[in-house]
Amino acid sequence: MNNFLITPIEFLKGVGPAKAELLKKELNIFSFADLLYYYPFRYVDRSEFHKISELLSLNEPAQIKGRIVSFSESGTGYTKRLNAKFQDDTGMVELVWFKGVKWIKSSLKINEEIIVYGKIKQFGNKWNIPHPEISNVDAKNTVKGFQPVYSSTERLNSMGLNSKGFEKIVGELLLNIDGQIEDLLPIKVKENYNLMDALNAVKLIHKPADMASAQRAAFRLKFEELFFLQLELLVRKQITMQKSLGYKFEEVGVAFNEFYSNHIPFQLTGAQKRVLKEIRIDLKSGHHMNRLLQGDVGSGKTLVALLTMLLGIGNNFQCALMAPTEILAIQHFEGISQMLSEMPIKIALLTGSTKKKDRKILHEELESGEINILIGTHALLEDKVQFKNLGLVVIDEQHRFGVAQRARMWKKNELAPHVLIMTATPIPRTLAMTFYGDLDVSVIDELPPGRKPITTVHRYDAHRLRVFGFMKEEIAKGRQVYIVYPLINESEVLDFNNLMDGFEAITRAFPMPKYQVSMVHGKMKAEDKEFEMSRFVKGETQIMVATTVIEVGVNVPNASVMIIESTERFGLSQLHQLRGRVGRGAEQSYCILMTGDKLSKESQKRVETMVRTNDGFEIAEVDLQLRGPGDLLGTQQSGLLDLKIANLSRDGHIVVMAREAAKQVLRDDSTIELKENKGVRMKLTELLKKRPNWGRIA
Ligand code: ADP
Ligand code: MG
Repeated sequence: MNNFLITPIEFLKGVGPAKAELLKKELNIFSFADLLYYYPFRYVDRSEFHKISELLSLNEPAQIKGRIVSFSESGTGYTKRLNAKFQDDTGMVELVWFKGVKWIKSSLKINEEIIVYGKIKQFGNKWNIPHPEISNVDAKNTVKGFQPVYSSTERLNSMGLNSKGFEKIVGELLLNIDGQIEDLLPIKVKENYNLMDALNAVKLIHKPADMASAQRAAFRLKFEELFFLQLELLVRKQITMQKSLGYKFEEVGVAFNEFYSNHIPFQLTGAQKRVLKEIRIDLKSGHHMNRLLQGDVGSGKTLVALLTMLLGIGNNFQCALMAPTEILAIQHFEGISQMLSEMPIKIALLTGSTKKKDRKILHEELESGEINILIGTHALLEDKVQFKNLGLVVIDEQHRFGVAQRARMWKKNELAPHVLIMTATPIPRTLAMTFYGDLDVSVIDELPPGRKPITTVHRYDAHRLRVFGFMKEEIAKGRQVYIVYPLINESEVLDFNNLMDGFEAITRAFPMPKYQVSMVHGKMKAEDKEFEMSRFVKGETQIMVATTVIEVGVNVPNASVMIIESTERFGLSQLHQLRGRVGRGAEQSYCILMTGDKLSKESQKRVETMVRTNDGFEIAEVDLQLRGPGDLLGTQQSGLLDLKIANLSRDGHIVVMAREAAKQVLRDDSTIELKENKGVRMKLTELLKKRPNWGRIA
């Protein structure tokens, strides 16, 4: 960066030491550059007047001229509010205040022409403008034209740095900015994507003439951010590809071929075949595979994992499959043992409850290479577990394992084993691209044939009896039912009591001996859990009352009803996961979302989304809108991105363009040495130094 931009902020006219101190403390603004990149978070358009009759069709704040014709007050204390009927020559709209009622009423006069600025909103079945800004028609302080709005803090406000104050000091900075901003983007990229130059963009983002120019400036700045993000990721990928040696699985091998020709229980779906091809290419490349396999619940990831492990075995390597819970590990062990029952492959199970003397034998057989596939939980990460030649690790449900934990596994090896991580949490494509690069993500986007879509409905708690009635009908048909309670934090006493109350209510409504009810929760001992679960799996109990421990992976095809209690307390992806426990057999399945009758907007949106669609990717998109990318990935990585203006949940289309542009630059100049890419090289060097370990899945 040049000298001008790194000038400390106290040297800007209108700032001085006291304000500078506060800017540093409150907003991390240390230099001219920091202020320059402190963009307005929105704009207000006070250049035009609108008519009341137009308000409903406008989706943004608007300015109208008119008169208040009457006031009315309602409520008391916290619910106190002031309404004013406001009229122009096209109609009437209500203005509403919930705060400062007395003061506002005394400062406004009936029948005087005023300017009102605000956004019309719906409350129940009424439309009004809450807390509008009011100004007099001829007042000097009337806001005019197109205005940037900066966010500020209480303390900065008190020193005069409110939005207007920011506008002023930024204006001061812009006076001196000509010739100081280097344009980092190559000319070709700017031409191809019709981007304005860097100097104009920073000027216009702060002082646009209208919305269109603000948007064009924002586009340029977002594009630049995302371009460098993508470029960095692609370059890092190149570097790791060159460095990371991996075991070479040359052959398809006997194990795979034998299974594929004689024992495979179904024909693979097109998506399963495609994904296997992608994996096969990795495995014979001689580089280390680090691949994320995404596939909605029930899309058949296990079979892909098994076939991948058979590739490993056919090349004389041992393989491991790691699951997040014991129940799931056991299911995998049983399912895979059955599928391979007629093949000479030795499979072992290792979990926290494996007995000491069994462990001893198991450790020996692993070291001698006798065991081909080891399936288990976290227990696989214990230091005593040593393989003869571990070539591949499959991890089911990646978000439960930390990166550090995974790294521990292959410290034991000469070369890192290949890694395949399976997840049913669909990551929207633009996010996956940003975090992993599309090289390393395989997607199963097709369900096995013959699945009936799950019918999802929303029911209020008050209608629980009817829901019980429906359960009885389904059970009479021979089906089984899950009832899930939120127990997000296992130590929460309140949640636990809810679960117990629920269990009691269920056992009363569904009495023995006609009905049998199981219960599984996180406080139970592993063997009790397993016992209860296996009763349900075998069909000995019809109802399974559980917490989210059954969230991942469990497969009981005869269960056709999933009832989720206190739905409002679950996140979208979790709800989708839970729903995925049903719809696994040939019968029509149902998911019933129970809630109280008061729902926040966000909960409402989640419930609506679940009712509307079964598509995990669509659900992930909504989740992304609601929660932002950080939460969705549940990793520290999102914080690293440090985006100032681009937003991964809203700017997906720009991510796609920026990625394409970055790829093009690398295609033409793979080592970034051409003169026209000088700016790119500079920026990239800086970025590569800054975050050394970014962009690796494991
Ligand atoms: P998930 O991707 O959620 O782990 P599973 O691997 O458990 O899904 O598969 C869900 C169900 O679909 C299992 O009962 C499995 O046997 C079945 N299945 C997997 N692949 C196919 C296929 N190609 N054709 C038919 N059924 C399949
Ligand atoms: Mg699974």
